[in-house]
Amino acid sequence: STQIQLVARPVGTPTSENFRTVSVELPELGPDEVRVRNEFLSVDPYMRGRMNDAKSYIPPFGLNETMTGAAVGHVIDSTSDALPVGTAVLHSYGWRDVAQGPAAHFSALPETALSLSVFLGAAGMTGLTAYVGLKRIAGLAEGESVFISGAAGAVGTIAGQVARKLGASRVIGSAGSAEKVAVLKEKYGFDEAFNYKDAPVRQQLRTLTPEGIDVYFDNVGGDHLEAALDRLNTSGRVALCGAISQYNSTERSPGPDNLSNLVTRSLRLEGFTVGQHQDLQGEFAEQMTGWLQEGSIVFDETVVDGIDHALDAFFDMMNGANTGKMLVRI
Ligand code: NDP
Repeated sequence: STQIQLVARPVGTPTSENFRTVSVELPELGPDEVRVRNEFLSVDPYMRGRMNDAKSYIPPFGLNETMTGAAVGHVIDSTSDALPVGTAVLHSYGWRDVAQGPAAHFSALPETALSLSVFLGAAGMTGLTAYVGLKRIAGLAEGESVFISGAAGAVGTIAGQVARKLGASRVIGSAGSAEKVAVLKEKYGFDEAFNYKDAPVRQQLRTLTPEGIDVYFDNVGGDHLEAALDRLNTSGRVALCGAISQYNSTERSPGPDNLSNLVTRSLRLEGFTVGQHQDLQGEFAEQMTGWLQEGSIVFDETVVDGIDHALDAFFDMMNGANTGKMLVRI
């Protein structure tokens, strides 16, 4: 099996020097185990945090160990009655072309007409993140307006559409290129979108939200969060989902300079990690597979081919090369 390991902890932006590719001889299967040929691997922003030796909600990647993460594929060898050869599965063995382990570490995927890859994106963890953040954390209600940063990414594209399903009256997004802004408006139904690289976010958001916003779904942090705090209406809510503008920072990031808005307008900021909201997985999966199959929710995937290019996929995703979910196809 070809596998990718972390060999040195990056300071700032990671480079290929921080990793190595190894070839591992897989042992015979033990009782109740499976071997899986991975078809798609997920590369995600949270993996940058796991490259640091820091205590967090999820332990760091071990040095000289194969990195873990979400992947989907089919069982090619099995000693498990529950997961016979041919079963499509989701698992978290991540960065390798062939995964092997106890059957209990692999979950069978439902049979649908959808590509297996959607269980890493729209119908998987990233889709659930959008759903949890808007519905449970922000409590987005019918008729409210919402601003979503990182809007053209995996979570953002789904969040824009879920906001509409929840009855949002106005959906505004930000992203890092003119092409992405066009896709947000034309394909994903955003009422307004802007390129955060064109002019200060504070200024652009103010122009596009004359009536303020009720909810902010934060994927970016920093200047985006500050801008949103200025524009939130009384009793506004922020779902703090991520702060990708800071993941490669080597210096402490300045705090928002306008937290007094929380007092004067009774705002609520709440962070979350999707893993703590798995109780919503059932209702989410049922609704989302329905929406995807009827085409009322659409999605993009940016696919990089080959395990040998998995790191490029990760670096490119951190740099904004993706629209929708960034995936590695094995
Ligand atoms: P995306 O598909 O959105 O990919 C990352 C995107 O971030 C890039 O495409 C790029 O788009 C944007 N980006 C990179 N650097 C910056 C920057 N300095 N400023 C603004 N945007 C930047 O990834 P995901 O959808 O998987 O994740 C989106 C966010 O959600 C991340 O913050 C992630 O950590 C968080 N997340 C949180 C979860 C939770 O449980 N709380 C679960 C899953 C994700 P662009 O071209 O627009 O710059």
